[in-house]
Amino acid sequence: MKIEVQHKIPKKILTPTSGFLNGYSHSLNPYAGCAFACSYCYVRQSPVGLFRKQEWGTWVDVKQEARELITKEIRNLRKRNKEITIFMSSSTDPYQPVEYKEQVTRALLEAMAETPPDFLFVQTRSPLVTRDLDLFLQLKDRIRISVTVETDLEDIRKKFSPQAPPIQARLKALQELKEYHLPTQAAVAPVLPFSNDFPAKLAQVTERICLDDYTGDGSQGKRTERLGINDIYEKDQLEYWYKNRPSEKALEKMRTSFKPDQILVGQKGFMPF
Ligand code: SF4
Repeated sequence: MKIEVQHKIPKKILTPTSGFLNGYSHSLNPYAGCAFACSYCYVRQSPVGLFRKQEWGTWVDVKQEARELITKEIRNLRKRNKEITIFMSSSTDPYQPVEYKEQVTRALLEAMAETPPDFLFVQTRSPLVTRDLDLFLQLKDRIRISVTVETDLEDIRKKFSPQAPPIQARLKALQELKEYHLPTQAAVAPVLPFSNDFPAKLAQVTERICLDDYTGDGSQGKRTERLGINDIYEKDQLEYWYKNRPSEKALEKMRTSFKPDQILVGQKGFMPF
């Protein structure tokens, strides 16, 4: 799919949080728009997705001067003795394909390695995340890297997010981060249909998982319903997984490979520290 890329200089790069992310002081989005175009992406129903009048997944805005902006904003917040806890990213993937060339995320991490926040949560589903191992190691005591792995079944992944990276590549990325003793988690969010081997596969690559389903979309599943996600389930007679709180089903199964304190459910799995 052709992606329209535009370059824009924002006034600010940090956004004060509310709602689902209210445990953080700010969210940080290196890009607007996301080429991974997941079918269930709740951003499709948010102002960013709705007001653009272009299909979600077909456009990306690159935020320029990100390095200068974040350094200035963190310094200003420090002067006011504010705690700075950052969620990157809430409405884009910081390691989507455009990052190979533009390196906005890397520039932000370089700036934060020099002028660090109190805590940084990195949320992605891209194996490109391992490129920045050197910077994560500098931020090691104040970071968690969360890689989305919604299922272990590649055919299921292709039905729901055909433009997102393959599952095996994400597991490999988690494995690599673990080898460097970086704090990680696999975000099984949303829980999609998975095989009985899934818990053991995850336990090999991370010591923490977070489970969530569409009820965590900020509207108890209503936003997701409006996206017509149930059609994908119905087409393959998978409705059982949609209607029956899949995160509860997953919780039971994951207990075979993870200790209770290694499994977080819903919002708790995305909170700072
Ligand atoms: S990667 Fe995240 S932001 Fe991008 S489309 Fe998928 S759910 Fe949305």
